Amino acid sequence: PIYLDYNATCPVDPRVLEAMLPYFTEHFGNAASRSHLLGWTAKDAVETAREQIAELLQASTKEIVFTSGATEANNLALKGVFESVFPQKNHIITVQTEHKAVLDVCLHLEKMGAETTFLQPDEFGSVTIEQIEEAIRPETFLISIMYANNEIGTIQEIEAIGTLAQKHKILFHSDATQAVGKVQIDVKAAKIDLLSLSGHKLYGPKGIGVLYINRNLKNQDLVAQMDGGKHERGFRSGTLNVPAIVGLGKACEIANAELLTESITLSKLRDCLEQGILSQIKGTKVNGNTNNRLPNLTNISFEGVDGELLLSSFRDIAVSSGSACTSASVEPSHVLKAIGVSDKLAYSSIRFSLGRFTNQEEIDFTIQYVKEVVETLRA
Ligand code: PLP
Repeated sequence: PIYLDYNATCPVDPRVLEAMLPYFTEHFGNAASRSHLLGWTAKDAVETAREQIAELLQASTKEIVFTSGATEANNLALKGVFESVFPQKNHIITVQTEHKAVLDVCLHLEKMGAETTFLQPDEFGSVTIEQIEEAIRPETFLISIMYANNEIGTIQEIEAIGTLAQKHKILFHSDATQAVGKVQIDVKAAKIDLLSLSGHKLYGPKGIGVLYINRNLKNQDLVAQMDGGKHERGFRSGTLNVPAIVGLGKACEIANAELLTESITLSKLRDCLEQGILSQIKGTKVNGNTNNRLPNLTNISFEGVDGELLLSSFRDIAVSSGSACTSASVEPSHVLKAIGVSDKLAYSSIRFSLGRFTNQEEIDFTIQYVKEVVETLRA
């Protein structure tokens, strides 16, 4: 099938794979081994990757902490800060459209005494600064708002949120899993204290991610959730996954070099797909903020078709409805629900997410194919 599900995961870029391979075999050392060349080689490779990642975020290498992915990075950020401030402070501000890897962490923390405000976004998936400011309490210790939404692509006003958080001396965490590599990020300009990213969303391997931790945060400000050998300056113990880290570094280097041109190419292809579908198929509507969203994504509702039937009929294209990360459940997408899409229409909404290896031919095919499938199902 034609792969249009890059927001679920990306194939590893061949250049990334090539960079990784030697670290499975000849350079297999433990980056924490200080007494021999194999260890130093591994450590050097990890430090190079740290530089490549830091550069993409405009961060410094000391601020990069490796995790197993964005889920773990989110868990470390929210639980780690909560543990350091509770019971003096206990309130988190977040948004209903966050990934479950933030929402469910909040629900977990509520059982331990936290209180959460889940802000309701507008019909495009955006929250306003006024809305956030109104929710601030004396006990608020964290604002956790994603950079860009995985299902509808809406990009939030990250810099303004960072400024607000700083003004109120509240930490700002952003799950930037879907933004890194797709839009330019400057953690300092945006005043982000904590940022999560994941390797497999930017053509790196699965099972590796990063929590960016602003250098002003010390170990007592963010309690480690994984104790042991005090790797990663004590923030996250565990032997480093050197090949994956090398791959993530390479993926960030490529993103840094190609992000601008790639995002222009992708948004052209995306617009072509979207316009094609909207103009050729009646009863279609785009979900999300078309003025400020990820360049590679469109989420479209198809009226008058059964959602499950629609998805299962798409044999020649790989797309998703709602969030693939929670696809074990057949609930309508919580993101579409939060922006006011009816349950019925949410079921028949499809996320098309394009990527580095998508071409015009595939887009042309997809438009015709989707048209045929939808018309057949409606008939
Ligand atoms: N956050 C967002 C916004 C995501 O889209 C995803 C993956 O779908 C995750 C977190 C989870 O990332 P990982 O697969 O690295 O745990």
